[in-house]
Amino acid sequence: MENQLKQKFLSELEQLRQIAQNRGLAVIEEAEQPWLQIGGKRLLNLASNNYLGLAGHERLKKAACAAIETHGCGATASRLIVGNHLVYRRAEESLVKWKGSEAGLIFNSGYTANIGIISSLAGRDAIIFSDRLNHASIIDGIRLSRSECQRYRHNDLDHLESLLKKTTPSKPKLIVSDTVFSMDGDVADLAGLVTLKERYGALLIVDEAHASGVFGPYGEGYVHHLGLQDRVDVQMGTFSKALGCFGAYVAGDRWLIDYLINKARSFIFTTGLPPAVLASAAEAIELVQEDWQRRQALQENSRFFREELARLGFDLCNSSTQIVPIVIGPNEKTLLFSQKLQQLGVAAIAVRPPTVPDNQARIRFTLMATHRRQDLAEAVEKIALVGRELGVIR
Ligand SMILES: *Cc1c(COP(=O)(O)O)cnc(C)c1O
Repeated sequence: MENQLKQKFLSELEQLRQIAQNRGLAVIEEAEQPWLQIGGKRLLNLASNNYLGLAGHERLKKAACAAIETHGCGATASRLIVGNHLVYRRAEESLVKWKGSEAGLIFNSGYTANIGIISSLAGRDAIIFSDRLNHASIIDGIRLSRSECQRYRHNDLDHLESLLKKTTPSKPKLIVSDTVFSMDGDVADLAGLVTLKERYGALLIVDEAHASGVFGPYGEGYVHHLGLQDRVDVQMGTFSKALGCFGAYVAGDRWLIDYLINKARSFIFTTGLPPAVLASAAEAIELVQEDWQRRQALQENSRFFREELARLGFDLCNSSTQIVPIVIGPNEKTLLFSQKLQQLGVAAIAVRPPTVPDNQARIRFTLMATHRRQDLAEAVEKIALVGRELGVIR
């Protein structure tokens, strides 16, 4: 007998193809930042999160190799069993010094950090207020928590306050937001969020995945950029983007970290990170504090790129960071846009629903510190060419 589920899956995949929303995996044959090779073709990489170009840095590679020599390749157990190697201590000490927080904790990835943090801090009796454009891992954390969730309009703090006002004062409240939004490249009104969380007695959790390494005097993140580190309860961020490694962290007070160690299931029930990953993350924390030139170069490249695309008449959402989307709208046209760019030697990704709202498909460009200005200028010309050809700009 034919399996009914298989038929259902096949027809769902066919439906996705029909609305140009199916996805597949492109093989990256070589990545020599900021270039990469796909299908034998060399492309300017405007699609990675390796914002500072640290993923291939000599110091990170050396640190990782040395850790493999000393500690081997696997952690061999979860951290609460016997997987908590010395490299964890070194990395968490570096983290705490960098953040200036009382304590810190490393999770296996940004995804597992968010699902663990949110589901453990928010119980069934709590209510979570979440920006509509928050990352999928935050949404999944909220689902796992089984709390009530109220989504407020993106960056609309009047809307957030009206929801907070309607909530029974005795109910435990959490506010969750990205600091830099991953698909729009704009930033949260963090000062406003802090004011509201203090006014209504809520806990504030922020996700700095795209801000770690990029913002702040020492790359600590957007919270430090605004000097609000003492007024945000939970700062989560990742080593997987600007820091060029893998893994994620939480910085906060001692009670928070003790609680997560005891309650966050995605921390407890998984094997510790490989020693090589921790050693390179610890090295990246040091490097990112020293190397302010990379941060500056990234900012200058981002500004140049945004200004050029805005001048051409593209809709960049409210991007003010290294993430620069141009909104196209329909899926097919957006896919075609990215295919044409690829033919011209530019790698950029078509982001479609459900990652972004319906009819807001976009090309998401991401800048790097290591892009040369000349290469960016040539990419802008190609983007303009395709934009005119497809009627996105005039
Ligand atoms: C990428 C990302 C994550 C997930 O981090 P990983 O380390 O890749 O699992 C979480 N939150 C945001 C906002 C992200 O952009």
